[in-house]
Amino acid sequence: MRTLLTTLHSKYIHPSLALPCLAAYCGDTCGELLIRELTIHQPKENLLAQILALGPDVVAFSVYVWNRQLSLELAAALKVARPAVRLVLGGPEVSFENADFFDHCPVDALVCGEGEIPLRHLLHAWNAGLPPTAIAGLQLPGQSAVQVGQSQLENLDELPSPFAAGLVDLRRGYVYYESSRGCPYSCSFCMSALDARVRSFSMARIKADLTLLMAAEVAQIKFVDRTFNYHGARSREIIRFILAHNRRSHFHFEMGGDLLDEETLALLETVPAGMFQFEIGVQTTQPTTLAIISRTTAMGKLYKNIKRLRSSANIHLHLDLIVGLPGEGAADIDASLTDVFALEPHHLQVELVKLLPGALLRGQAVARGMRYDPAPPYRVLATPLLSFAELENYRGIGRLIDLIHNSGRFAHFLSALAQIYSSPVEFYQALYPWWLRLGGFDEPLGLRRQFEVLADFVTHAPGVHEALARDYALAGRVVPGQAPAFFDCALSPGEELQVKQQLKQTLAGRARGENVQHFACVFHHLNSGQRTLAVYFYRSRSGDTPVVEETLLVAETTSP
Ligand code: SF4
Repeated sequence: MRTLLTTLHSKYIHPSLALPCLAAYCGDTCGELLIRELTIHQPKENLLAQILALGPDVVAFSVYVWNRQLSLELAAALKVARPAVRLVLGGPEVSFENADFFDHCPVDALVCGEGEIPLRHLLHAWNAGLPPTAIAGLQLPGQSAVQVGQSQLENLDELPSPFAAGLVDLRRGYVYYESSRGCPYSCSFCMSALDARVRSFSMARIKADLTLLMAAEVAQIKFVDRTFNYHGARSREIIRFILAHNRRSHFHFEMGGDLLDEETLALLETVPAGMFQFEIGVQTTQPTTLAIISRTTAMGKLYKNIKRLRSSANIHLHLDLIVGLPGEGAADIDASLTDVFALEPHHLQVELVKLLPGALLRGQAVARGMRYDPAPPYRVLATPLLSFAELENYRGIGRLIDLIHNSGRFAHFLSALAQIYSSPVEFYQALYPWWLRLGGFDEPLGLRRQFEVLADFVTHAPGVHEALARDYALAGRVVPGQAPAFFDCALSPGEELQVKQQLKQTLAGRARGENVQHFACVFHHLNSGQRTLAVYFYRSRSGDTPVVEETLLVAETTSP
């Protein structure tokens, strides 16, 4: 029996951890197992052809919020194209289905919750030519998810390492890694709250896996543990091990910001710059909302710890906020945004709450008056305190924050905004309708157009306008004669001479094989109103990332 384990990623770069774990646990007692990772961007016909070309007897899909629709369509088409193929769906998106699911989806079984035990049980039976017997987590036609419950590995070390088994392609340079499963917290919007019993792999197993990954110099290792530092001593031991053995890998962790203690913070200060990235879910800073969603965060400690991490400047900080939570109106969301901007995260993600199947909040939706899209990703559409238009406003602001703040291309512009706005929230609130009117949300704007739209938006504030121009010149090569209108390229003869002198010096120090191009302009508001000559040198060498150098000079306005 040949079983294909597959999933549809939202991006090619995303690696699957679930499929290799399932294959590792099934071992060689379930017939032949194949893993194929596909993406939702491939045409359905191609996906169907690819799957059928492998000649599977069983196809098992790992189903998530981003691929549910296409996975179900593919399953239906597969059953028509090859009726003998047995179909299994598993993953968070199909773990809470009623018995009637089987009436409109021609699958043979669903795997609910953690998949290793029920999938192995099912495939083992089918491979032996037997009907599967009942087991927790295996939902067969006529049964509901509630009836079958879920099963979990008591001892995670029973799951053979998919990395040691060679089931994960390390050459992709990006792996998901789990050192634990479950989360001790109970936030009502989150599926991880359903698995409150945290289980960790043994420290020996974690170290063996990490040794293998670090020795292979995997570029990005993303810990998917829901709250990596739920246990301080455990997380410190892993961090110390990484610091002692890492070669070139970068690590991403999801951290409980308020759980960091002094010993951990001191250890984190020793992490080399650029090696770690932390994602810290703030979600809301409002105490009433926190209470409603059963989220226990010590806010004072969270602020203090994030500020300390930020002041060390060695760890990239990614903070998350969720909009549309129960009990929150626009003023509460603005307050949360203001609080989080004050923490100066490198990256701020602002998203509307999703009412995910199985999550506590979904069950409370009617009582709380929350309306949501019934199709994935189940985004909130209205609450008693927020209309659809208000939520849409915050969704747009989230997109603008991503484009402007998170891209890192607008550093001078964002700093200069303090000249005209009392807070970043005020700026984004003002920019949203402007961007909307210009159709900026309808189709992605190219980089130059983004800058031009922002330049038009701040023409009344020349200092901010010039800060934006500076960011543009630093973001990529400006071709003389084709510069956007927000540059003043009218140089005096004296300034032309200054540029020639700068160019001569730069070319004299040029490295072998290096190409140097330049662009010059004048600014009038950067340096206390003094005319400033800016010269940008763009150095490039085949195979290397181009480098931009900025030289600001007091302008020589007179003729030589
Ligand atoms: S939001 Fe984070 S802390 Fe809360 S239950 Fe989910 S994973 Fe745990």
